[in-house]
Amino acid sequence: MRLYTHAACLGHHAGPGHPEAPARLEAVLQALDHDRFVALDRVEAPAATREQLLRVHAAEHLARVFGAAPQQGFSRLDPDTAMSPGSLEAALRAAGACCAAVDAVLAGEARRAFCAVRPPGHHATRDAAMGFCLFNNVAAAAAHALDAHGLKRVAVVDFDVHHGNGTQAIFWDEPRVLYVSSHQMPLYPGTGAINEHGAGNIVNAPLPPGSGSAQFREVWEHALLPRLFAFRPQLVLVSAGFDAHRLDPLANLDVETEDFAWITRRLVDLAEAHAGGRLVSSLEGGYSLTALRAACAAHVGALLD
Ligand SMILES: [Zn+2]
Repeated sequence: MRLYTHAACLGHHAGPGHPEAPARLEAVLQALDHDRFVALDRVEAPAATREQLLRVHAAEHLARVFGAAPQQGFSRLDPDTAMSPGSLEAALRAAGACCAAVDAVLAGEARRAFCAVRPPGHHATRDAAMGFCLFNNVAAAAAHALDAHGLKRVAVVDFDVHHGNGTQAIFWDEPRVLYVSSHQMPLYPGTGAINEHGAGNIVNAPLPPGSGSAQFREVWEHALLPRLFAFRPQLVLVSAGFDAHRLDPLANLDVETEDFAWITRRLVDLAEAHAGGRLVSSLEGGYSLTALRAACAAHVGALLD
């Protein structure tokens, strides 16, 4: 199993006091720097190419992000989303990691991969950066699997506590992608209602604030996983956010560390059943460093087993 990361992903700063801080990735890398994870094949993430980004973003969006990269200080793209001098390279490496991981699992060089990268991606739409996200890393990986590798069925699984509005919008009428999400509602960004179906390829399971392990496992076991198994994906991509954890300061679900291991094992089962084991996961949210260390280690541990 591969671990894609890059030091440049630590060089993106979103502003003083911003929750999406370099310390998050430091916490993840620290948690994975343990005997349990010695078998991880560590690979430096390449930068995404323009072609890879243009599959999911408008040329105007690329021009805006490249043009906004400041020489010093910060430039703001959205009320929550800013760039520092290191942000552009971080964002390119984050999306590039996900595409390279797809290449590796489809070439049979690895069975599974985890991308320890930031900024996250699932709120970025075709036209806009938002919600701490500049480029939609996992969407770029899905489009890469379709267009560069000719896959016919790619599952994008999102258990971040926030709805992946960007991923949903990008694949709204793309039946080769099944997008499946559990998330808290109401919560930012406000999308993800149960009646948002796209072309029948979008499945949303909103959870009310205060939902814990039982409700989380219930929607996955009874609503989301059956759709995923029925879809028979050739590749499983995961938007792995850990902010549904009960310790997270930005949301109000009470998911436990062990639940992240549980959902990961079920997604490995899905990949083994239909996708030749091929699964690529990428870090999205998670803002309690304590929870992030534990939950991310549980996730990667379950991917390694
Ligand atoms: Zn989130």
